[in-house]
Amino acid sequence: MTVLMDGKKLSEIIREELKIKIQKLSEAKRIKPVLATILVGDDPASATYVKMKGKACESIGMGSRKVELPSGTSTDSLLKVIDDLNKDETIYGILLQHPVPEQIDERKCFDRIVSEKDVDGVTSAGFGKLSLGIPCFPACTPAGMIRLLEEYQIELAGKHAVVVGRSSILGKPMAMMLLDKNCTVTVCHSRTKNLSEILHTADIVVGALGKPEYIKGEWLKEGVVVLDAGYNPGNVGDVHFESASKKASFITPVPGGVGPMTITMLLSHTVKAALEKNKV
Ligand code: NAP
Repeated sequence: MTVLMDGKKLSEIIREELKIKIQKLSEAKRIKPVLATILVGDDPASATYVKMKGKACESIGMGSRKVELPSGTSTDSLLKVIDDLNKDETIYGILLQHPVPEQIDERKCFDRIVSEKDVDGVTSAGFGKLSLGIPCFPACTPAGMIRLLEEYQIELAGKHAVVVGRSSILGKPMAMMLLDKNCTVTVCHSRTKNLSEILHTADIVVGALGKPEYIKGEWLKEGVVVLDAGYNPGNVGDVHFESASKKASFITPVPGGVGPMTITMLLSHTVKAALEKNKV
């Protein structure tokens, strides 16, 4: 039997728990956690993501502050905005929406975010800490996938996990988190040879390559756990769901699997930042 890992349902449960924590914070300190989002330019997909994040904050009683900057913004002007948000005591988390226009040094801007407000896990220091097993806010999509694995009580120690994709927001941090959970981790990318043979040895597969329905069920072994982080036009993931679900013991659907967990982790990290800062 194949179990669907329901990220939508788990997200709803976590958001209810967050509402209670926000209420406590309000009662104890009269404080509301606020997430600042920075959107540079007019990319419609990015605008939609930022809007969704703002709405999600409001739906659980958090605040959100939206900073919108024109597409011609320079690195220095963006750094100044980040500096101001770093100093602002009412802001507990900062999210700089990726990608920024190409004239901007995105890495420099990410790294300007102070670690206690790096709720999206984008700074180099945050990635370093994650890799060393030092507490930090990990990138939200991998954090959501790990939370799903925990929820479904999937044994990880000693398992062979194959992560397909090595981006700094997804594949690499996911590999580090699985390593921390004592998996034996293989990271595949666009130059990997014999992907299907490698996948055939995997107990856990993470699809994070951005190619619709690329990973086929025929490449997977019986009983595999499949996490599909992909989100592509037509509402499909990076894994061919129909064939993969015939082999998998557990699988995330698209939509309703990893996607909702990403925003929920962002909310959760911001609430945690506010609780820690105010010692509640
Ligand atoms: P990305 O930055 O474009 O990285 C894609 C990675 O996949 C790269 O490392 C690339 O290898 C690798 N790759 C590309 N083609 C491959 C192939 N044929 N075989 C093996 N590896 C291949 O993408 P991303 O930002 O990590 O996003 C990946 C997917 O996750 C997308 O579908 C995206 O929409 C989705 N996503 C979902 C969420 C969510 O909230 N659910 C959040 C972020 C992203 P190279 O390094 O060699 O180029």
